[in-house]
Amino acid sequence: VSRIGVLTSGGDSPGMNAAIRAVVRTGLYYGLEVYGIMRGYQGLMENDIKKMESRSVANIIQRGGTILKTARCKAFHTEEGRKQAYDVLKSHGIDGLVIIGGDGSFQGAVKFSREFDIPCIGLAGTIDKDIYGTDFTIGFDTAVNTAVEAIDKIRDTADAHDRLFIVEVMGRDAGYIALHSGIATGAENILVPEQKTNIQDVIASLQEKERRKKLVNIIVVAEGDEFGGANKVAEAIKQHVPGVEARVCILGHIQRGGAPSCLDRLIASRMGYHAVESLIEGRHNVFVGIQNNRMNYVPLENVGKRKGTISSEWMKIVKILAS
Ligand code: ATP
Repeated sequence: VSRIGVLTSGGDSPGMNAAIRAVVRTGLYYGLEVYGIMRGYQGLMENDIKKMESRSVANIIQRGGTILKTARCKAFHTEEGRKQAYDVLKSHGIDGLVIIGGDGSFQGAVKFSREFDIPCIGLAGTIDKDIYGTDFTIGFDTAVNTAVEAIDKIRDTADAHDRLFIVEVMGRDAGYIALHSGIATGAENILVPEQKTNIQDVIASLQEKERRKKLVNIIVVAEGDEFGGANKVAEAIKQHVPGVEARVCILGHIQRGGAPSCLDRLIASRMGYHAVESLIEGRHNVFVGIQNNRMNYVPLENVGKRKGTISSEWMKIVKILAS
């Protein structure tokens, strides 16, 4: 490779800027030309591309969001769209692509790399941590810490009024943000999509604690929980535990923003560096993950295949510690 492009795609996550910086600076270090592609696949198709220098990524490691902006792009689902993207890359002489995004973005890259001779390397940039083959995704740690900070604050007011708060966190069909933030804030219960929600159990546990006069403040619900999210859970609780004053708080997009945590900056820097090394070494069409503190190169096509699971050990710990 001699000219590489880098883009961010799908939902943004804190630490994407640190990853862009690592890709640009590593590429330049190895004598490559690096091009920043704006707004993901959309900007690629529209030829919204600029050459990056070392200074283009100065003073961004600490910033949330993405300087390259991100987008969801319908046209990239079509063959014509991807052909257009390929023609743009060729017109710049770009012969390698780094895609920072979630599994949707990787699925796009799989199709693209099958159809055209552009090696693609993925970097897992998503707060959801829903990508198989890596212990970390860029943005997860920051999002979880934001959730923890918010839930701690909610707990103060919950405690003052003896109220129960049902807090909904992000994560789509993955429950990691809920699990981690719930454990870290001492939640009474954590409802995640990976486990069947038995609302009767939740209610029974509240009733039992009410009898013991134990005050319960927080239940954390993942947005993709099969029972239908925090509002539904609150309704069911109000119906069956009349004495409980239940309130709902949906944390929403604050979880995506803010300065990336130290951990997210570190893994973004490490993954970005290895993405460029992979392109140079000819390791193509993989995403760069970290497992057991070693780099793990997973073929992009395997990404969507297996989702992580949440161990029953964790769920047991939640139950015991909340008793
Ligand atoms: P996040 O997990 O943070 O939401 P994501 O990368 O999964 O990020 P998506 O919206 O699923 O976000 O995907 C981003 C873009 O990737 C889409 O808008 C589309 O352009 C492209 N893409 C996704 N899936 C496919 C697919 N199956 N084929 C072609 N392109 C796709």
